[in-house]
Amino acid sequence: MSKKKQGLNTICTHVGEIKDKQFKGAVSPIYLSTSYEFDGVDVKRYPRYFNTPNQEFLAKKIAALEHTEAAMIFSSGMAAISHMFLAFLQKGDHIVVQNTLYGGTSNFIREEFHKYGIDYTFTNGYAVSDFEAAIQSNTKLIHIETPSNPLLTITDIKGVADLAKSKGIVTTIDNTFASPVNQNPIDFGIDIVMHSATKYLGGHSDISAGAVASSVAHMDRIWNVSKNLGGNLSDMTVWMLERSMKTLALRVKAQNKNARKLAKFLDKHEDVSKVYYPGLKSHPEHLLAKAQMKGYGGMLSFELRKDIDAMAFMKQLNLIKPSMSLAGVESTMLLPSKTSHSLLTQEQRDAVGISDQLIRFSVGIETFRDLKIDIEHAIINTKTTSFA
Ligand code: PLP
Repeated sequence: MSKKKQGLNTICTHVGEIKDKQFKGAVSPIYLSTSYEFDGVDVKRYPRYFNTPNQEFLAKKIAALEHTEAAMIFSSGMAAISHMFLAFLQKGDHIVVQNTLYGGTSNFIREEFHKYGIDYTFTNGYAVSDFEAAIQSNTKLIHIETPSNPLLTITDIKGVADLAKSKGIVTTIDNTFASPVNQNPIDFGIDIVMHSATKYLGGHSDISAGAVASSVAHMDRIWNVSKNLGGNLSDMTVWMLERSMKTLALRVKAQNKNARKLAKFLDKHEDVSKVYYPGLKSHPEHLLAKAQMKGYGGMLSFELRKDIDAMAFMKQLNLIKPSMSLAGVESTMLLPSKTSHSLLTQEQRDAVGISDQLIRFSVGIETFRDLKIDIEHAIINTKTTSFA
């Protein structure tokens, strides 16, 4: 059976397995060696060359999931982003970056790029026209994030890809929030896809990793820079990531289902003033999300009424953990103003619409009813405590 015809769960489970020829074990062995023979071999293997057996084989699974020719695995999502950007940008170049995106990416650009003489423009909005308006004669990259962290804005992937192609600009996307289960940006013309694999690819809140997927030509360029910067992942963790990814589609589909139900429940709740979820018909880009996503994802954000303190509410939760990061099988919530976007100034947060009341909800695989009850109780307890 050709790889293309294989189903998602088959790809997750089997693509990129290393056959245990010696003992015939059912799962991939771990090759921990940092030293490989150099003479008479086709490939000179070394961890920082991103080509140890476990790295090489897991990359096949990621490439298959993202419909690309090649992939590379990194030690974190930020390692993936920084290596990817630095492979395509040099002194005098310019990048257009979506204004609503993960705070760490925005910090990296704002704090590091001037040291390299790289110029950047954050768009005013996330419509295709906002990207067009920000392009300069020296623009080499356009970077988008959709759905974005934490406001779940949806960018027109094909619209931006077509615009960039017409001007010979390379496009990159942070596909972390969607995961390859819900969105394959390459099919819409994007050149390079990256993930914080710490999130859905890992999925159990116990792995820090990143991934980039693209054509062989783009990946060669990224590899040339990455071998010098050295952000490879240890093979032990690569193996753990491979194991985790076997259940990627099962997990993400369960998270999609729970998130959709919870978004509807919160949307109707009298103490919730706003819900951000692309699966809701009221989301401004719902139809666009429907056209470019296969599922709406496990992430949503919401704001409680102004008289209910968001931090006090989180302290009343029993099941859902007030916790950093996202995409684990367990449900977590956080305040972006105090975590992922705390390094932005109040002014920068206001400009992109991240209020102090905003709660980001990473929906897990627990039973929907239990999550709903936890939220209901926490709201009631917060109100009783603060109004007593
Ligand atoms: N991209 C997104 C959308 C994220 O949410 C994060 C982390 O939260 C990153 C990238 C960075 O990933 P990492 O923390 O693995 O470096």
